[in-house]
Amino acid sequence: MTDPSLSGAHVLVTGGAGFLGSALCETLLAGGARVTCVDDESTGTVANLASAVADPGLRVVVTDVADLDLATARGDHGRVDVVLHLAATASPVHYLRMPEHTLRSGSAGTLRALEVAAADDARFVLASTSEVYGDAEVSPQPEAYWGNVNPIGPRAVYDESKRFSEAAAFAFRRSRGVDVGVVRIFNTYGPRMGLDDGRVVPTFLAQAWRGEPLTVQGDGAQTRSFCYVDDTVRALVAMATADEPGPVNVGNPHELTMLELAERVLSVTGSRSEIVHVDLPQDDPARRCPDISRARETLGWKPEVDLEDGLARTATWVRDQISVPVPPRG
Ligand code: UDP
Repeated sequence: MTDPSLSGAHVLVTGGAGFLGSALCETLLAGGARVTCVDDESTGTVANLASAVADPGLRVVVTDVADLDLATARGDHGRVDVVLHLAATASPVHYLRMPEHTLRSGSAGTLRALEVAAADDARFVLASTSEVYGDAEVSPQPEAYWGNVNPIGPRAVYDESKRFSEAAAFAFRRSRGVDVGVVRIFNTYGPRMGLDDGRVVPTFLAQAWRGEPLTVQGDGAQTRSFCYVDDTVRALVAMATADEPGPVNVGNPHELTMLELAERVLSVTGSRSEIVHVDLPQDDPARRCPDISRARETLGWKPEVDLEDGLARTATWVRDQISVPVPPRG
């Protein structure tokens, strides 16, 4: 449910056509906000907003956030009340393919979005990431941990652009008084994730439904903690109205190994696919699990959808995308 104080507000969502951004736009519109979605469709697609295009409260601007100016940000909706800055190339497959674009949207794009917030005295929420912790030496990761990122490795284009974005948000807070709120989002999953973008949940589910081997990278002992998209959206909406600069971790503390995830996927799909081991990518973090004490205290937020339920919902969606017939019961 959207905070009533966002009803009628003009909310600018950068990256609003992506997997997470489109779910966020839908929730904001349902709560009565007027929404401007800014997206260059480099990894998302406006088709993700199909259910909302007829809503007069929605404006869609197809542009790179690094080229965004104030007049375009305002458009017919006028002064901006809240900026939710999600635009980023979040999947390893995409940011490795588009390293310069990733750096530009994370740096110039973040500065442009902050300029809009500064000009209109808007709340600015940065969708940062657990990747700021890099290959963490402590687990679970609290916000006070400064991270262990390889600044010249292949993942650095994403990790460092988010670290830059956090630095920029806090600099604008100090120097220009911008009302910022930083959330560090851990692995999120759900319907509308790209089936070909390499992320582990849609990849395993698509492989399972197609009867292909599940490609576990390395020995599969590395861990991740997966949060269902609806829970992450609720946290973003809560941060949009909170009097809290953060950073605040947003994630589901249920940690599991990638081998365990593969087993869960086989079980939820009923697939007989085998599990194979392939090369582990460079700098793949060994452990990732959020400490969400601060989110509980400051946002009154905790995840509500457990992995079994969230995986089942996502599995159904993936099956529909690849047109696998519903298996007979019994
Ligand atoms: N992974 C895997 N098989 C795949 C894709 C990913 O075992 O086909 C692993 C990957 O090595 C990582 C984890 O799953 O340890 C999560 O990868 P993802 O790309 O989804 O997100 P990340 O957390 O690395 O950004």
